[in-house]
Amino acid sequence: MGAGPMTDPFALLDVASLLSDEERDIQRTVREFLAERARPHIADWFERAVFPRDLVPELGKLGVLGMHLTGYGCAGVNAVSYGLACLELEALDSGLRSFVSVQGSLSMYSIWRYGSEEQKQQWLPRLAAGEAIGCFALTEPDHGSDPANMSTKAVRDGADWILNGSKLWITNGGIADVATVWAATEEGVRGFLVPRGTPGFTTHDIEQKLSMRASVTSELSFADVRLPDSARLPEAHSLGAPLACLNEARFGILFGALGAGRDSLQAALSYAGTRTQFDQQISKFQLTQRKLAEMAVSLNTGLLLAVHLGRIKEAGRIRPEQVSVGKLNNVRAALDVARECRTILGANGVSLEYPPLRHANNLESVLTYEGTEEIHTLVVGQALTGLSAFR
Ligand SMILES: Cc1cc2nc3c(=O)[nH]c(=O)nc-3n(C[C@H](O)[C@H](O)[C@H](O)COP(=O)(O)OP(=O)(O)OC[C@H]3O[C@@H](n4cnc5c(N)ncnc54)[C@H](O)[C@@H]3O)c2cc1C
Repeated sequence: MGAGPMTDPFALLDVASLLSDEERDIQRTVREFLAERARPHIADWFERAVFPRDLVPELGKLGVLGMHLTGYGCAGVNAVSYGLACLELEALDSGLRSFVSVQGSLSMYSIWRYGSEEQKQQWLPRLAAGEAIGCFALTEPDHGSDPANMSTKAVRDGADWILNGSKLWITNGGIADVATVWAATEEGVRGFLVPRGTPGFTTHDIEQKLSMRASVTSELSFADVRLPDSARLPEAHSLGAPLACLNEARFGILFGALGAGRDSLQAALSYAGTRTQFDQQISKFQLTQRKLAEMAVSLNTGLLLAVHLGRIKEAGRIRPEQVSVGKLNNVRAALDVARECRTILGANGVSLEYPPLRHANNLESVLTYEGTEEIHTLVVGQALTGLSAFR
């Protein structure tokens, strides 16, 4: 009996009925583009640790780079549309979604929100078109969760600034045409746009990663890098500026992670429907159905949460701790789902032929970056108690 396995686990709660036609169209367009241009190659890119750089101008044409920003060649779509695009990108691979998040929400947003008109004109149209690549450098070797203690310093020298220090774990770092670099100054934390090729600025890609293999992650070093004051982001006056950029990017993650979860669950549903043991489909075993049901409940409630947060973001009312709730819940849910799906695939689950373990490995990074699971837990704890347990 029955109509066969459900191909889209999100059909369970019909969350799509909460979306507009335009939002559904954007989601479908991104999914179809990736199915044709990336899906056949992603396991190979991951295995060979290749970032598909040729895809960047195509992503620009698709309109997903800085798609939630307005002007300067950006599409200006609403928050939920941006989230749904991230969901489809991460259903392919967290590495590609990370590229789009860093380009749009960290590099472009930092320029769009805090840059001068000249900086916006110089960089935003090229970044939106995928003709240039950006990165965002906050984390350092000795300062991850506590960027307030950063060691990278910029000091005034006449009309210029001299930048010294290093940044670690920077997505797109080695391929970026422009880096948004955050540094301590005597006046507080400031952001600087450092173009590739600036004397004293070097990059080194991190190899031997077990996660985000289809994404470039790099160390950035600055040795007496001389920058004119026009390289400084004039509207960024404190650490609040990079933290606000991160809040933008996290919003994409709370949708994105669900894509990795959905893709894992689709693979497990399909596999369980055809694999037989003890003369029965493994999807008929109660223990398998329990896993499938719990995963579908978890992902569907995560999507309801994401759409809710999207709507309050569109209304201009979202608070950072609400984004923390979304990132905490949905990344954790997606990681649990990806690992559980791996078990349903048995030994085949460790093969790159199937996506769950690739997604699980990627989601280990997503759990840590843009605020670790622990820090987001403490942000929610602080909102509840009024007391900060982490500083
Ligand atoms: C693939 C990848 C890409 C990345 N891309 C970027 C990027 O583009 N730009 C960028 O700037 N950074 C990037 N990062 C860095 C990322 O944001 C940091 O790794 C993250 O902020 C955590 O910092 P850390 O790794 O130094 O860990 P630490 O801060 O050293 O934390 C180690 C452990 O201690 C816990 N901990 C720390 N402080 C507390 C506390 N007060 N209370 C309780 N627990 C605590 C943490 O939760 C964690 O479990 C990337 C990381 C990865 C893995």
